[in-house]
Amino acid sequence: MRSLLLALAGSCLFAGWPQTVPERTQFARTSTVQEVRAFMDALRRQAPGLEPYHPKGAPRATETGKPLLAWRLKGAGKDLLRVYVNANIHAGEVEGKEAIQQVVRELLQGRHPELRRNLDLVILPAYNADGTDALDPAIRPWQPNPSESGVGRRENALGLDLNRDLMRAAAPNTRWLLAMLADFDPAVVMDLHTTNGSTHGFHLTHGPACTLGADPDLLAFNRRMLVEVREQLKGEGMPTYDYGNFTPYRPTAEKPPTAWETYDAHPRLLTNYPALRNRLAVLSESYVYRSWPDRISDTRRFVLACLGWMAGHRDEVRRQVRGSEQRWADQWRRGPVALPLSAKLKEVERYTFDWVDPIRDDQGRLTGEKTRTRLELPSFVGFEGQDEVPVPAGYLVDAAFAPTVLPLLQAHGLKVLKGGLRPRALPVLHFHETGRKVSPSAYQGVFTLELQGAWKAEPAAKKLQLAWTPADLDRALYIPLDQPLGRLAFYLLDPRSTDSLAFWGLFHSALIRGNGMWGEPPRFPILAVGPAASPASGAVQLPEPRTQE
Ligand SMILES: [Zn+2]
Repeated sequence: MRSLLLALAGSCLFAGWPQTVPERTQFARTSTVQEVRAFMDALRRQAPGLEPYHPKGAPRATETGKPLLAWRLKGAGKDLLRVYVNANIHAGEVEGKEAIQQVVRELLQGRHPELRRNLDLVILPAYNADGTDALDPAIRPWQPNPSESGVGRRENALGLDLNRDLMRAAAPNTRWLLAMLADFDPAVVMDLHTTNGSTHGFHLTHGPACTLGADPDLLAFNRRMLVEVREQLKGEGMPTYDYGNFTPYRPTAEKPPTAWETYDAHPRLLTNYPALRNRLAVLSESYVYRSWPDRISDTRRFVLACLGWMAGHRDEVRRQVRGSEQRWADQWRRGPVALPLSAKLKEVERYTFDWVDPIRDDQGRLTGEKTRTRLELPSFVGFEGQDEVPVPAGYLVDAAFAPTVLPLLQAHGLKVLKGGLRPRALPVLHFHETGRKVSPSAYQGVFTLELQGAWKAEPAAKKLQLAWTPADLDRALYIPLDQPLGRLAFYLLDPRSTDSLAFWGLFHSALIRGNGMWGEPPRFPILAVGPAASPASGAVQLPEPRTQE
């Protein structure tokens, strides 16, 4: 009786508040960019506090002119934790876009006073604005969809997967995000998705940042946050677990699952990138086979549980963030600094999984279960760095590439100096290539370049190659690594990093020379500054510790 009265009181209290598009269409449709804007405008008429947000210097629209619309809801407390929530980066995965609108409404309605008071939130519900409005009922037929509108497209209008663009930052959406990180500087970034196919028994899977080369203690804290949220949700009847897939990807009765594996340690992913800046991240993946209303509701519950955890642990979150910044600075004082060039999956624990052997309709939708098998499996939901190399004092980039490279490095928030300001006591090092792989198929429109090699004091001998003069060195861009975002600078600039500007093709004219290019060879456009690694032992030898300057 009491709950009925409360429910009635609630519905009276909340009369007049706007409904989201799925709510007012009996889930027949999902929102367009303009419908999200109309909903947010209606919320703003209903209650104070919600404001449009635009980061300083960020693009306002995509290549096709679709606006990038974000809002900020700032708590009234003194000690606010800044959190950014991103949705619809893959615009076929629409439930985050709807759930976050509900969450903002509930916060304005006063339903979560602890969150409202202690958080400073920025949200962007339709990040992939091009994909958001390109709705089509034929997209993602294996997931139960809004029947009338269908869902949007995965990629943007240029065909880029925006969730692989964080390092290269080719899209205005990514430049918007980088500007937001510089301007708003959230302690935590959340990104809301839907899974693609594994038939597990969880309502939602989630991931912390799993980033190659990030601070290990920060990554461990990031996962601890999600383990605690998972246990809380489990107690409330909502099974969740770390994002991953079974191995093999599509198990059968003959080949049942043998392991559970997460995805990728590259910082090109939105929820990996923040850790290179010493910040936390949360990936949310609602389960693709749940009904469309359930997926919205699951995402809403997960977002609220995470925000609740963050509000309750805000001092600790800030301490962990500061701690990782401090540890990076301390490493430079102690020296030498080394970072891994690659990562391999690491078994974090054994866990009990439900593997569903599905019955599907002709669209691939899950209509029933043949069996559900409970299995204890090794869970590979973290990474271990490998191929560690010494980190130089800094990199020099040929000034000829400055028109494209300088704005990109500045968009990432890096300190870039003139080459004349490099530490003169340290030698300039040249890259000696020992191997390369140009990808046989294009990725994000690029035939990517993987380079192997080492930095050495003498130039690589190549006939008629353009030499570096002292004036060229002084004119080059100099990017010191002992800066707060030094980890990020390393993975953007070391040519062996498989998320570097060299990998993403920004130096292809100098580095990839086809048969038609019969002119004299250009020089390698990146140099390192610092002690050389000795290749003599075969293993990488770390440089002598640097004395404090
Ligand atoms: Zn996705």
